[in-house]
Amino acid sequence: MDNVLLCENVRFDELAETYGTPLFVTSKRSLVESSREFEEAFAALPHLTCYSVKANFNLSVIRTFAEKGYGCDVNSGGELFRALKAGVEAGKIIFAGVGKRADEIAYALDAGVLMLKVESLSELRAIDRIAGDKGVVAPVALRINPNVTAETHPYITTGDSKEKFGIDEAGLEEAFSMLRSLRHVRLVALDMHIGSQIFDPEYYVAATTVLLDIFETARSLGFSIDYLDIGGGFPVTYDARKPATPIGHFADKLVPLLAPSGVKVIFEPGRFLVANASVLLTRLLYRKRNHTGKQFFIVDAGLTELIRPALYQSHHEVLSVIRHDATVVADIVGPICESSDFFARQRTIDDAAEGELLAVMSSGAYAAVMGSNYNGRLRPAEVMVEGSEVRVIRRRETFGQLVENETP
Ligand SMILES: *Cc1c(COP(=O)(O)O)cnc(C)c1O
Repeated sequence: MDNVLLCENVRFDELAETYGTPLFVTSKRSLVESSREFEEAFAALPHLTCYSVKANFNLSVIRTFAEKGYGCDVNSGGELFRALKAGVEAGKIIFAGVGKRADEIAYALDAGVLMLKVESLSELRAIDRIAGDKGVVAPVALRINPNVTAETHPYITTGDSKEKFGIDEAGLEEAFSMLRSLRHVRLVALDMHIGSQIFDPEYYVAATTVLLDIFETARSLGFSIDYLDIGGGFPVTYDARKPATPIGHFADKLVPLLAPSGVKVIFEPGRFLVANASVLLTRLLYRKRNHTGKQFFIVDAGLTELIRPALYQSHHEVLSVIRHDATVVADIVGPICESSDFFARQRTIDDAAEGELLAVMSSGAYAAVMGSNYNGRLRPAEVMVEGSEVRVIRRRETFGQLVENETP
């Protein structure tokens, strides 16, 4: 059966038959492989890997990494709830986010997270006050804005001083003096996250150098810091013509830079671990050609399942599940009432017939998690394949669920 696309040992056409489309199909082996690759690269450095759950927050995906001993990086009370539910130890969870509400801070403290990231001085005061009310001392990390503009899509660069993230160097003196006077916070880490899908290790080198400078300053001020958190952002290949820099190249630069600090390093990979583990399986509903001869493939998935092409102009490979020798050039578009609802434009694709299946590749990161019910769409089912076994890890939504919180 070499002309049919498989996920591990399972045929995509059989998955569509059983579970319907659109369908997210995740390979467990691929998740395990990417975490093994990451761990091998950084094996020389004492570290804790905290999976950034926002990339793919399905409980089974989080659990797969928790079983490998990973912690988590979470951005909201909801993500904290998911991480705990999936079995991540609270003591390995980092609570991040530029706009934490008081109830979220209280939830994180009650859960006993490893640390809360601080992104502003006002937030530091708020954490101190809430911890004080509870009679506890909150472990905190200062998120530094290293003012390094990593070359990636402007919507996913986060370490530039124009962006809302972190505290810049000018604010540090005040942060340190506040940390010394507040009684219910303890500085345990310095942290950065410069963006996502970063191809050049030199951006990490530049930002880590800033972080290490600040680490020295903090030590000279008498702070004893347990962790240096260098964030996520490691790249993956979406387009075979633009292969991602291997993770080993990042390790080659970062391990010698960080090892002399003698403190434990935290990594927060998201995309790297999950992007290429899932496929969005969709059915080709209609083919049409307009008067200019332009062809459209209209499929049953859209930006409600995968918004990355609309949001970031990102490239996703689209493969026909049954291989054909002949190809055509077409725009592959969804059913949503928006012109930005496309997966590919002017793409050379197999000459598949109406009713056949297409696989939108690399749909594991920032895909299902950014899904919506726009246009009254039902959130799709998700399955995880392991060898020849298939497990439903999210049931398809129903019309009833679509309106259950509303009053007519
Ligand atoms: C999004 C995010 C990550 C993960 O980024 P990836 O590019 O998916 O690796 C890590 N840390 C923080 C603070 C983030 O906001």
